[in-house]
Amino acid sequence: MAEIHLKSLAHSYSDKPTSPSDYAIREMDHVWHQGGAYALLGPSGCGKSTLLNIISGLLAPSEGEVLFDNVRVNELSPKDRNIAQVFQFPVIYDSMTVFDNLAFPLRNAKVPEPKVRAKVNEVAEILELHPVLHNKAKNLTADEKQKVSMGRGLVRDDVSAILFDEPLTVIDPHLKWKLRRKLKQIHEQFNITMVYVTHDQLEASTFADKIAVMYGGQIVQFGTPRELFESPNHTFVGFFIGSPGMNLIEVRRCEGGVSFDGFKVPLSDELNEHLALVPSDNLKIGIRPEFVHIWDGPTDDAFEAQVQHTEDLGTYKIVTFELGGQTLKARMDEDREVPNGRAYVSFPQQWLKLYIDEFLFEEQAR
Ligand code: ADP
Ligand code: MG
Repeated sequence: MAEIHLKSLAHSYSDKPTSPSDYAIREMDHVWHQGGAYALLGPSGCGKSTLLNIISGLLAPSEGEVLFDNVRVNELSPKDRNIAQVFQFPVIYDSMTVFDNLAFPLRNAKVPEPKVRAKVNEVAEILELHPVLHNKAKNLTADEKQKVSMGRGLVRDDVSAILFDEPLTVIDPHLKWKLRRKLKQIHEQFNITMVYVTHDQLEASTFADKIAVMYGGQIVQFGTPRELFESPNHTFVGFFIGSPGMNLIEVRRCEGGVSFDGFKVPLSDELNEHLALVPSDNLKIGIRPEFVHIWDGPTDDAFEAQVQHTEDLGTYKIVTFELGGQTLKARMDEDREVPNGRAYVSFPQQWLKLYIDEFLFEEQAR
């Protein structure tokens, strides 16, 4: 078991990278602490598999170091790094039985046979593979094969870490939920560092205590699901996390705050002072639909907006409204009446975020 430190790590698949866009992993420093349950979340192509393969040793990074418990492992093979990795598609031996497939990593590590049997039985129990334990793997369903593949990753409790690369992609949705719970259970039982790659925020937040959100080869935020929700560090996190994502509005500086489409949004003195010192014109405000306030009538700080449509989602409603040229969303409790046509909306200061060059500007006092 190990703490995994990625130090000044970067990777380009090109031999002669010339610009940042040539990098699948942009320079990063990151630590996965021993025993954590982590998710690596991001859209397709953002570099998740590349990063995982660098940690396991399947891929040598073009720059920087991978340290396990402060020892450089760049030169070590995947086997010597003692990492278990589960891939998107099953990696199993078709001609072997399920039992022998599960036993393989243990026998390979010269674990005595009685312990092999005990461990295989334990994992088969968790993954509900007992009914097929003595069947040949080639006759299994796709779901069962992937469960065996996961089981092979889970049998050894002496590994440095277990890495999962979108392991539930081929699994039936109902079973997905169950397997995720089981992974969490296994994590709690054995205290092994686990990194779980996914592009699905729900999967990430049900499995992980902390989520690394990846975008364009960078980890743009590493935080608890709540931190990602309440304080997105980057506009991408705001947009990607949440359903629907954060409202993001391009704004310009104006006296006492920022403005868009003729609407003025006042900012605190601290934010205004900071803005005056920043050269960039790439400014956005962000507010989550959950925090947009809809009033029953006009108030001092409410804007007049046009309601476009409402989606009733049972326990709540999502109201789409237009403010100036912007289409924005607000979440309302199911028992509240949605205004017809005209609505009065405001953005509570506490939840209004300012983004400069896509990154959050945080007030010190907050
Ligand atoms: P993810 O797992 O998040 O979908 P990947 O790590 O697979 O992302 O890919 C990151 C980027 O690196 C993508 O732009 C992809 O096209 C590129 N890439 C991945 N593997 C290779 C490879 N073997 N050779 C060249 N480019 C690659
Ligand atoms: Mg991938």
